[in-house]
Amino acid sequence: MEIVLLGTGDATGTPKIGCNCKTCRDARIEGWCRTRFSILVKNNGRNILIDTSPDMRLQLLRADVHKVDAVIWTHGHYDHFAGFGDFYRVQNGVRVYSAREVLKYIGGFLHFMRYRPIEREAYSPFELFGLKITLFDVNHPPMERSLGLAIENSSKKVVITGDTNTNIPEESLEIMRDADLMIADAIAPEGFNLKKHMNAGEAYRLAKSLNARKVIFTHISHFYPPHEEASANYPLGRDMQRFVL
Ligand SMILES: [Zn+2]
Ligand SMILES: [Zn+2]
Ligand SMILES: [Zn+2]
Repeated sequence: MEIVLLGTGDATGTPKIGCNCKTCRDARIEGWCRTRFSILVKNNGRNILIDTSPDMRLQLLRADVHKVDAVIWTHGHYDHFAGFGDFYRVQNGVRVYSAREVLKYIGGFLHFMRYRPIEREAYSPFELFGLKITLFDVNHPPMERSLGLAIENSSKKVVITGDTNTNIPEESLEIMRDADLMIADAIAPEGFNLKKHMNAGEAYRLAKSLNARKVIFTHISHFYPPHEEASANYPLGRDMQRFVL
């Protein structure tokens, strides 16, 4: 399978509109950016999107995706689903997988669109284009449900934490163990005290404690130093970064 980090930014993205901090200035001058959260998973010639970023159109063009075969939504925050309409206008009947509460919440927002919502519960693995997908609950207050997922082929496991703090249910931690690649929410550097997300130290310690072979951070805010500088100290993902497993 191939994983492409389509968007590694937080809800505002970097540069943030109207922000003149060192990181946003550097992003404008050097021409880099972090678009909002989405991950592309490719397997057997099929394309699965984990979340549909508000920057979806740009991301699909950049990644040269011609068709979306399935979508998995992790939770109902705007920066994770609002770009769904970008390819809804291009293709019909897109299959969307998530837990009931997430489908219901986002369905209220996208009520005028026709797509195929498919309920899948946490801790009940299902097969999608040759991959085993397991959703699991994480903790992202005040969201009622927020999900992470494990994606496995015959020999490798990728874990995406989804938006979460460190207070993850034990049953989920069991599924997250021994990942070949963990893609972790680490919205801000260590020292930031966060209720909804993990900071860098928390994400790194979580990955270590769960024996992840490699960890990469995503959902990254402008509170980190500029990308080149911050990358010396943190395993920060960047938009369009690819992994083959
Ligand atoms: Zn800024
Ligand atoms: Zn969120
Ligand atoms: Zn988010």
